[in-house]
Amino acid sequence: MYDIEAIYEADSVSHAVELLRSHPGARVIAGGSDVLIQVREGRLAGTVLVSIHCLDELRGVCLAEDGALCIGALTSFSHVSADPLIRRHIAVLGEAADTVGGPQIRNIGTIGGNVCNGVTSADTASTLVAYEAVMEYTGPEGAHRVPIAKHYVAAGKTALASDEILTAIIIPQESYAGTAGHYIKYAMREALDIATIGCSANIRLSVDRTIIERLRLAYGVAGPVPTRAFSAEAAANGKVADADTVEKAAQAVLDDIKPRNSWRASAAFRSHLAVEMARRTITEAIARARLGAGTTTIAGGGL
Ligand SMILES: Cc1cc2nc3c(=O)[nH]c(=O)nc-3n(C[C@H](O)[C@H](O)[C@H](O)COP(=O)(O)OP(=O)(O)OC[C@H]3O[C@@H](n4cnc5c(N)ncnc54)[C@H](O)[C@@H]3O)c2cc1C
Repeated sequence: MYDIEAIYEADSVSHAVELLRSHPGARVIAGGSDVLIQVREGRLAGTVLVSIHCLDELRGVCLAEDGALCIGALTSFSHVSADPLIRRHIAVLGEAADTVGGPQIRNIGTIGGNVCNGVTSADTASTLVAYEAVMEYTGPEGAHRVPIAKHYVAAGKTALASDEILTAIIIPQESYAGTAGHYIKYAMREALDIATIGCSANIRLSVDRTIIERLRLAYGVAGPVPTRAFSAEAAANGKVADADTVEKAAQAVLDDIKPRNSWRASAAFRSHLAVEMARRTITEAIARARLGAGTTTIAGGGL
């Protein structure tokens, strides 16, 4: 039973914003894979929905003039993982998108919905946090940009105003150039399960590929919102890319995370997993960076 008071179909971004303004309390619906579950369960019973599903201008991936990767908010997980620009520059995001749900969810679910629901278990969120993605919000005053660290306000809550929509996710070139990454999702089942914990690493090595120039590491479900592991990064940056450095970074993760007890796993088990996942993701990211897989360079930038 879907108890919906009204559903409005936006025919442009500005129309969507206008509909949200004129219907306070209305919810945006994109793919609907979260929203419709909530309506059916009664948590959003009697809601007014503003559908942005038909706004094709918000689908797809492009490279901006400044080299930034721009991912439209309505881009589906299947599209993200198959997109040539994603595969070339940030293959780890496709790897994360491939772990979401089953094929039907990956076809209908959008990357925008994955970060706008505000949940810490969202599979693409840790990779976007690790790449310091920038969110493009569009509201009555037009578009403005918000760093992903400020997008997540609290568990299930984002900085989006009630009359704004997320229109794009931007990965600056400096953030992704010359990096290779790896994502691991630990779940209780192999498929169709929410992450017990997820971990995304990306790494940039020195030109001779012996030193870790820059490690970025982030987790889902290691805190109320997707969490960056700054201590772990500091333990690795500027150090030799070897097993000793990886171990120090992995142990430092315990200073960064605040996992909780839930029916899926205890906080102690999540902490154990977080250290092991850091070992594995960083080791694999180093191996991929050495092979040059999933990397790109800034022309003349020496990265
Ligand atoms: C069976 C099943 C399995 C799932 N498995 C996983 C999984 O393994 N990993 C995972 O991460 N998720 C999973 N999900 C959750 C869900 O599929 C994802 O979170 C998906 O990304 C939601 O995208 P959507 O477009 O369907 O969002 P919707 O349901 O349309 O919206 C989700 C939320 O975001 C808001 N919203 C959406 N787009 C915008 C926008 N552009 N601007 C402003 N607000 C917006 C909506 O108002 C709503 O609050 C699963 C869901 C189901 C039903």
